[in-house]
Amino acid sequence: MDFKLEIFIERLKNEETQIIQEEIPSYLLSLKDQEVSFSETVSLKGKTYLASDHLILELSVKAVAFLPCIICNEQTPFEIFLPSLHHAQELSEIPSGIFHYQELIRESLLLQLPAFLECHNNQCPEREVIKKFFKKEQFSKGFQDL
Ligand SMILES: [Zn+2]
Repeated sequence: MDFKLEIFIERLKNEETQIIQEEIPSYLLSLKDQEVSFSETVSLKGKTYLASDHLILELSVKAVAFLPCIICNEQTPFEIFLPSLHHAQELSEIPSGIFHYQELIRESLLLQLPAFLECHNNQCPEREVIKKFFKKEQFSKGFQDL
């Protein structure tokens, strides 16, 4: 299977609309080397067409990201759903006639990620432990200040 995320402008001439419906392996978005990883597949649905001198891309994107819990560091799933990702690219910026949109998808997904994530729906089991620890710290610090 060929999973290249590319759009051939030539095929869209004559007012063609190309339907996009793909389950793409997340390695295509080359996110593996970062702190965040993604579920095996990222699903894309939508269409692409030409509007005067622009290529228009309308997509919905679904993925599950895994981020370390801010407290216990456990890999925690985070669902991303972008219902309407709209992109317009000037045709003059696509001299090869082939528009590659991995980068677009990649950036759009990364933008959705929270700065912090806590496991178990924000009820990290280690939260209590850490709370106690911090309380103690503050407590003894307070005493020192006296
Ligand atoms: Zn946790």
